[in-house]
Amino acid sequence: MQQVSDKALVRQQAYINGAWVDATGGKTFDVSNPATGDVLGTVPDMGAKETEDAVRAAAAAFPAWRDMVAAERAALLQKWAALQIEHLDDLARILTLEQGKPLKEAKGEAQSGSGYVSWMAEESRRIYGDITPPRDSAHRFLTLKQPVGVCGMITPWNFPSSMITRKCGPALAAGCTVVLKPSDLTPYSALALAVLAERAGIPKGVINIVTGKDAAAIGKVLTDSDTVRKISFTGSTAVGKKLMAQCADTVKKVSLELGGNAPFIVFDDADIDAAVEGAIASKFRNAGQTCICANRIFVQDGIYDVFAKKFTAAVAAMKMGSGLDDDTDIGPVIASQAIEKVTRQLEDAKSKGGKVVTGGTAHALGGLFYQQTVITGATPDMQCFSEETFGPLAPLFRFKTDEDVVKMANDTPYGLAAYFYSRDMSRIWRMAEALEYGMVGVNSVAVVAPQVPFGGWKQSGIGCEGSRYGIDEYLEKKLVSMRV
Ligand code: NAP
Repeated sequence: MQQVSDKALVRQQAYINGAWVDATGGKTFDVSNPATGDVLGTVPDMGAKETEDAVRAAAAAFPAWRDMVAAERAALLQKWAALQIEHLDDLARILTLEQGKPLKEAKGEAQSGSGYVSWMAEESRRIYGDITPPRDSAHRFLTLKQPVGVCGMITPWNFPSSMITRKCGPALAAGCTVVLKPSDLTPYSALALAVLAERAGIPKGVINIVTGKDAAAIGKVLTDSDTVRKISFTGSTAVGKKLMAQCADTVKKVSLELGGNAPFIVFDDADIDAAVEGAIASKFRNAGQTCICANRIFVQDGIYDVFAKKFTAAVAAMKMGSGLDDDTDIGPVIASQAIEKVTRQLEDAKSKGGKVVTGGTAHALGGLFYQQTVITGATPDMQCFSEETFGPLAPLFRFKTDEDVVKMANDTPYGLAAYFYSRDMSRIWRMAEALEYGMVGVNSVAVVAPQVPFGGWKQSGIGCEGSRYGIDEYLEKKLVSMRV
């Protein structure tokens, strides 16, 4: 962590009730740099007991935070957001060191994360209720919106910074308090954000960060607790389903941001160069490890060969390396399991007629670097059609008609993001409406911004982050029916 200038941002302790603390018994675990395998440091290996402490702290902090006037809460959140921008370079370096993504992507992530806090700070001043015409002259009907209470949050490793702010921003803006467990692979970004929250003056107990390797034990305390009123989870669909089931006993509110299987469709009438650029940005961002990554690239018959040629050449030219190097386009994957999954999907595709046109093996850099890979001749019976790849493998599928591609694109239990490129206005409308996805990019892959909803359909999730709707996830509605 030598590259970080403000050393106080790098914490080797968890943050509970406004104090930096070790695990009971002093247990710790190592956090490594995926680009080198070097150990970056250790953080506390906490479990059920410390999570219970954090829940108590969040419950104790809730009444004062809930009752603070919105403008004051908003000012504290704006200060937190501003500190994130002030320390953008350090937040990005910490992120790249623990996660591996190129520094320019890490900066973009930290900046986007700050944007969510700032947007939600503004929204906190616009938590309006309603006065509705009553059913008789003796009544008045008022609808109030009030914070849900203590929220438990669990976040993944692929966006270790913005997932924290995208959840804490709206929760805190609504007046809720938080217990958050970051991924054990990437806890340092969450801890650095807690340092900045503390500096911004966010009161003790409002944000609590519990680090630990036993995610199931920490998650169980959060889901079983009567004090915790809501779980917000980002991660795999498999774990999301488990948590949702665990929440049934206490009928807890849930927000789930889960896996994806994004179609990326290029029609005959598309601007091919723009489509190549978009496909690369979407597929290889974070080495293919984002939930909205283009997972299946569908190209119409008439332009398939020319698109495949241009796309393959552009992919082959991308530079793989350490995220800290300025000219790096693609970093390492997070763990060996990601390489195993890419290899399995690739072997399956090859056995079913897929042709590797670039990449297809481990990178000469070794370790967790796997070559960016393109397969042509991909077909729907392949694993890469039905599974989220989460690695640098791009399969190109061929299609003939709009109807065929809509059918294939929607043929998945997932429904997070979809993209298509076309210049035909009538087709654009029809496609935008036909795709069963929470976010659709048209001639663009930019589908994430604080002012718009981010959320999945089908098994990609419940609820949304960002936009004027995002804060509702942390608010209860209450009818006050008043006889006058
Ligand atoms: P994951 O294995 O589901 O882990 C996500 C988080 O859940 C981590 O903090 C993990 O802890 C924790 N966890 C694992 N098992 C748990 C359990 N039994 N109880 C409670 N918590 C548990 O997912 P991942 O591999 O980190 O992330 C990749 C997945 O996230 C992909 O499917 C991706 O599409 C999805 N994702 C979705 C979005 C979205 O907005 N829709 C955004 C980003 C990622 P440890 O890491 O400490 O084990």
